[in-house]
Amino acid sequence: MNIEKDKVVSIDYTLTNDHGEVLDSSSGREPLAYLHGNGGLIPGLEKELDGKVKGDKLVAIIAPDQAYGIRSEELIQDIPLENFQDTSEVKVGAQFQVQNEHEVRIATVTAVGEKNATVDLNHPLADETLHFDVEVMDIREASKEELEHGHVHGAGGHHH
Ligand code: ZN
Repeated sequence: MNIEKDKVVSIDYTLTNDHGEVLDSSSGREPLAYLHGNGGLIPGLEKELDGKVKGDKLVAIIAPDQAYGIRSEELIQDIPLENFQDTSEVKVGAQFQVQNEHEVRIATVTAVGEKNATVDLNHPLADETLHFDVEVMDIREASKEELEHGHVHGAGGHHH
């Protein structure tokens, strides 16, 4: 079976940045399971995995525009403190999730003033070229329910 849209794929991976620092890894955990072709992984990595079979190993080097994007000054915004539910949580370095119609972003507080907090909505890995060391551990058909939800259930996936 080859990796293609709507297959459930399990991978072991190690993610490093340009300096060789490990940012994330499945080592010591169960493999990461995702539903291929549904935006579960960054686009550049899904493209590299397309067509691969169980047991394949690959090194994928993904440019920022196919990973977590290019850092944008427009994503650094001043937000009135009155918009926060609990201003005691608003400290430099604090991170929280912001949901818009399409996606969940991580916002990082970069400054706190009298009336406003400055938050950076750029992904923490924006501008990073990512190096993935990947091994395809398993490929299976998705269940009907997984296809409806657009994500994987059970081992390595969502639990709900
Ligand atoms: Zn679900």
